Amino acid sequence: SAKEEGRGGYAFYANFMLERAEGDRLLENDVRDALNSDALSLAYQPIVDARSGAIVGREALLRWNHPQRGAIPPDLFIPVIEDAGLIHQIGDWVLREACTEAATWSDEARVAVNISAAQLGGAGLAKTVFGALASSGLAPGRLELEVTESIFMGDDLSTLGSLEALRSLGVGLVLDDFGKGYSSFGYLSRARFSKIKIDQSFVRAAAAGEREGRAILDGILALARGLGMATTAEGIETEAEAEVMRELGCHQLQGYYFGRPRPAEAVAKEERRAVRRRA
Ligand code: C2E
Ligand code: MG
Ligand code: MG
Ligand code: MG
Repeated sequence: SAKEEGRGGYAFYANFMLERAEGDRLLENDVRDALNSDALSLAYQPIVDARSGAIVGREALLRWNHPQRGAIPPDLFIPVIEDAGLIHQIGDWVLREACTEAATWSDEARVAVNISAAQLGGAGLAKTVFGALASSGLAPGRLELEVTESIFMGDDLSTLGSLEALRSLGVGLVLDDFGKGYSSFGYLSRARFSKIKIDQSFVRAAAAGEREGRAILDGILALARGLGMATTAEGIETEAEAEVMRELGCHQLQGYYFGRPRPAEAVAKEERRAVRRRA
């Protein structure tokens, strides 16, 4: 049951934190092993056009199937990877893998890749992205990079410079989780984002009929329109939530209601089915 899973999850979490306290060495080795085996993989979740329902993109989400511990959620292991200084190596793998997969999609949907703040800075990221695009043959316009406001915390101007270089190449730049944490409208003017992803908490509040939530959402969407940025609503779980976001004029929708994150093989099958249906 979900309750048991929750308890297991908690026990696992406590265990995990204890191990971190004892030293990240073991885990670090596990991550290195994972990189050399097929324990790391990407799951892809569809992003649909709010009006037509057509799949216009897929978000690549990192999965770690630990040989002893089973699936470890990214929110838990990514901070460890960052502390261990392995985020560049893993981030590079994610970018190359996602671009290679997306290049095989016959529907030509975009692929959205999450980039953590620790991956930015210096020329490293731009170089990796150029390399991933070149070796996969994916058109730059089909790649989107999702970053959160945490990239602005360091006040490192070279960060924004490398994002700008990628943007001018045609790569999409997405501000993820907008409305969660300390999101400030000021951030929207500090980089040229092509799209804003609205955090699930707003979607939830607006669909629950909360006037304040809806008013704030209205404001965010108006601002995005004014700045020429597209919008995606995250975490859509019900038709009611989808309907509210459509009414408010959100461009794209993503969430369990439209499809869960699924392994690459499942995406390929889903596509073959879609093609057969069209024929
Ligand atoms: P995110 O980028 O905001 O990704 C969306 C998260 O919401 C995913 O969790 C996804 O599975 C989940 N989600 C999607 N639809 C729904 C829904 O309808 N309801 C609910 N409750 N949740 C939904 P996931 O896969 O556990 O990833 C968590 C976070 O880990 C991501 O948040 C992202 O910040 C980070 N992450 C994942 N993959 C990578 C990666 O390759 N690199 C980096 N740097 N971060 C990653
Ligand atoms: Mg994301
Ligand atoms: Mg998000
Ligand atoms: Mg997130």
